[in-house]
Parts: sequence; structure tokens; C-alpha cells
Amino acid sequence: MSAQASSAEVSADVIEKFSPVDGSHLGNFPITSPADVNLAVKAAREAFPAWRDLSLDQRFAYLDRLRDIVSAEGEAFAKIISDDTGKPLLDSLLTELMAIPLFIDYYKKEAPKTLKRQKLSRQLFFPTKTSYVEHSPMGVIGVISPWNFPFQLSMIPVLSALVAGNTVVLKPSEVTPLTGELMREIFERAGFPKGVVSVVQGDGSTGAALCKADIDKIFFTGSVATGRKVMAAAAEKPIPVELELGGKDAMIVCHDANLERAARAAVWGGFLNCGQMCISVERLFVVDAVYDAFLALVRAEIERMRVGGPDEGSDMGPLTFSAQMGTVVRHLNDARERGATIAMGGRPMEGPGQFFEPTLVLDVTEEMEIYREETFGPVLPVIRVPDEEEALRMANDHQYGLTGSVWTRDVSRGLELASRMESGQCSVNDVVLSVGNPALPFGGVKRSGFGRYHGPEGLYAFMNQKAIMVDRGLLDVEPFWYPYAPKYEAMLGTFRNLMGGKMVRALTNFFEMHKITKRRG
Ligand code: NAD
Repeated sequence: MSAQASSAEVSADVIEKFSPVDGSHLGNFPITSPADVNLAVKAAREAFPAWRDLSLDQRFAYLDRLRDIVSAEGEAFAKIISDDTGKPLLDSLLTELMAIPLFIDYYKKEAPKTLKRQKLSRQLFFPTKTSYVEHSPMGVIGVISPWNFPFQLSMIPVLSALVAGNTVVLKPSEVTPLTGELMREIFERAGFPKGVVSVVQGDGSTGAALCKADIDKIFFTGSVATGRKVMAAAAEKPIPVELELGGKDAMIVCHDANLERAARAAVWGGFLNCGQMCISVERLFVVDAVYDAFLALVRAEIERMRVGGPDEGSDMGPLTFSAQMGTVVRHLNDARERGATIAMGGRPMEGPGQFFEPTLVLDVTEEMEIYREETFGPVLPVIRVPDEEEALRMANDHQYGLTGSVWTRDVSRGLELASRMESGQCSVNDVVLSVGNPALPFGGVKRSGFGRYHGPEGLYAFMNQKAIMVDRGLLDVEPFWYPYAPKYEAMLGTFRNLMGGKMVRALTNFFEMHKITKRRG
């Protein structure tokens, strides 16, 4: 295949990487064989007990070294990520590398509280018992990540799993092998003990080998189609799986929104990362009353955008993955045929690279592919609605539910609409940024997947919960233990009074059982 034809070509043992910006050859990257995937998992299994037994401070010492490396060489790393993906350098710093200090600092503060054994309140019918909940690491975690944010979407689950005391094998996307290699180098230089974290490179077959290997959980970010396969592989064992899948996020612009802010947000949220974002604005609902004024602002904002390679001070780069071009063109053709208006853009750009014009599509309706399926490209589909209730109904009547946003000056109304949106996250008067807030749990509903990470959930995602109940052991016998016969009436009384909400009587009956048990020795 020609260099321009694809951003990455995979043969039996090598990934050939081509620049999405100009098609030049960026290097060949060896594919990890299934046997070597197993060896990486074996090393992770052997490294697990020692890593688990380190104190949090000891684990964070390694993460601090990693933080120092990223801090010292952030600009050079941003360049590698931008070469790999085509995204603006600013995006590589903001949406990829910033995750390192944000999440490490957050977990440093939160992990001691989150991971502490918790004592629960005493229960009425368990008067002599003390109850605790604690969490222990699962073991070896397989992390499989996509190409759109190849650094951040790998690093956050990996670092969270490590903080929680697990060891990890990471399989990044074959579309962005430069970033895969960069992460391998960063882990090596941070000096993690052998086997604690490894990177295996390759395509779906490498991912499938990792799913089959001796791991304790799969953390998967990617498409619904692959998510199904990953879940089926997990079901074979069975082991737990977390699926972070696609989205078709709704943005609802109400009649009283700050239109200037909302228009800028719609364009940024729709075109950031060339629209290749699971939480991209992919359905922009605008109420009739402000439609024309809002659309004029959106058009002006799109006109101001600069498209180009990472070094050209552009706002938007090319499509990272050449196959996306086909999806974008297919969705636009289908929309055109079904009566949509391509108001701006709509075509691949002249010249080398995988550039596509920022595209505004109006008169979008529910039966169009561009409405139903994830487009994952620089396309902003707009739907005119009579009011925000209709917008919310349409937003919810969809297979996906990842994030979304509501725009109104009435914050309590915004909060109410946000609560009713069927999604894992929803913002009021903001877009995309909630995913970068390390304290907020992230994950989807419906086909967008299940499970949560970020926030305390980001540690619990990689831990088994254990419940412990302690009795000081001072009584020789419990009220419920044998013999049964003399206690039946007291038990019946306990049950009936409990059901009737008569707690004092129920407790009296309960202690009666205890007395009878003791009398009988
Ligand atoms: P993809 O499903 O094609 O690939 C994701 C990863 O899975 C890659 O590393 C790939 O090599 C691997 N893989 C492929 N087949 C496999 C198999 N049989 N077993 C195990 N692993 C396998 O997805 P993509 O094209 O890389 O990413 C785009 C998709 O990811 C979009 O749908 C997007 O919405 C979604 N995404 C979701 C989130 C989220 O947080 N919810 C974030 C980013 C991207």
C-alpha cells in the first residue's frame, strides 16, 4: 500500500507507520508475538506480590519519577504524540500529557483515604459485631487502548491500576505505535521493577492474545464491535471487564443560553482532535427561538479555524486513522441523500495527508447515519428542536450515552436537565472538560459501555472489595445457633415485629432468644 493510503500497516511481525500529516514513513515497530505476550503476563504475575506489598508512598516514588521525566521532556513527548496522531502540539500537551500531573497529584491526595479500611456503623441486630470494608488489588491487569488519545487513554488506567497495587500489561493501538514506544521508554526510564508494567505492541491479534493470557481483569477502551469480542474473551474464564466504548454525545442549547459561549464550545467540542473523540459533540440540538442567531455565531467560529499540521499553529490536524475518512464520507453522503444541508466543508482537503474540512451539517434527522452512528470525524451535525424537552427526549432515545451538555443561564434548570440525560457524565454550560477532572468518575451507559474510572472509582476499578465482620468472641453462643426448638416462638416474634416496624419489641424477642440459648447451655 502507498504511504498515503494508510496511517499504519500491519504485517506478520511489524507495524509500518506513516505520517497522517504528509504520508511520510515514520518507522517500523516490531509486533509482540503471542508467546511474548504470555511472557509479559508471566513476568507481571511474578512481580505482583512484591508490588502489592509496597506501601503507597513507595509506589508513588516510582510514579513521581515518571512525572519528573514527563515534566522535563514534555515538549519533546508532545512532538512524538503529534507526529503519531497529527494533532496540534497544544492538544498533545493539554489532552494527553497534562493527565500525568493531574491524575498523579489527585491520587496522591485521595488514595490514602480511598484505600483505607472503612469501619461501618453498627447494625441493630448485630450488636456485638464490627463491620469493615477494604479493597485489595486484583493482580495482573490487561489494558487495551485506542489511537485517538493514545497516551492519556493508556496512561490513566495503567497508573490507576499501579497505584491500586496491581501489575499491568498494556496493549496500545497499532495505529499509533510511536506513542506505544514512547510509553515503553517512559516506564523503563522511571525504573519500575521488572514485570510491574510492560507494553506489548500489535493489532487486534495481540489484543486477543492478551485477553486469553493469565490476567485478572481487562480494561478496554475502543469500539463497540471490539468491546463485544473482548467481553466474550473475558466470559470464557470468566474475569471482570470494563468497557469504555463509543459515544454520540448531545449538546442542548436552550433559549436562554449564553450563545457566544455555547457557539465557541460547540465548535471546540465538535472539532477538537479532528472530532475523533468518544465525547465529541456529535449531535447539536438548538431550540428554535435562538437557532438563527446561534448558527451565525457557529459559522463565524468555524471560519476562524486553522487546519494544518501540528507545527503550523493549527487548531485542527488531520484524521489520525485513514479508515476514518471512509466513515466520514459515507455518513455525509447518506445525510445529503436524506435531505441534510452541508452548510460548510464536506470534503477531504487537497494535498498530502488525511485532512478533512471542518464540516457543518444542518437539517439532520433521526434516520440519518450521521445521527445514529458514531462519525468520529470533523463534522458537526445540527438538529433544530422546538424546545429543550424535545431535545432531551431525542438525546435519550439513542443507543449511546457517554457524556453530554446542557446550555442555559438557569443553572437549576440546567442541573435538572443534566440529571435526566441518559449518560455517564453531563455538563452544564461546559463541554469535554469534565473528562479531565480527575475527581469525577468517567464511563458510559447503554452501548457506551460500563464500569467507571477516574475519581475514587478509578482505584476501585482495579480492586476486589472485601467485607470483614469481627466479633470479639466473648459470648459462648449466638442467639440463632442450635438448639432451635425452644426458640421458635421468640423467633416468630422477632420476625413479625421486625416486619411490622416494631423495633423495640423485635429486639426484646431477639434478646429472649439469646437468653433461651444461654439457659440451655
Ligand atoms: P478499536 O476497537 O478498533 O481498537 C481498540 C483497541 O482494541 C486497539 O488497541 C486494537 O488493536 C484492539 N483490538 C482490536 N481487536 C481486538 C480483539 N479482538 N481483542 C482485543 N483487542 C483488540 O477502536 P479504535 O478504532 O482504536 O478507537 C476508536 C473507538 O474507541 C471509538 O469507537 C471511540 O468512541 C472509542 N473510544 C472510547 C473512549 C471512552 O473512553 N469511552 C475513549 C476513546 C475512544
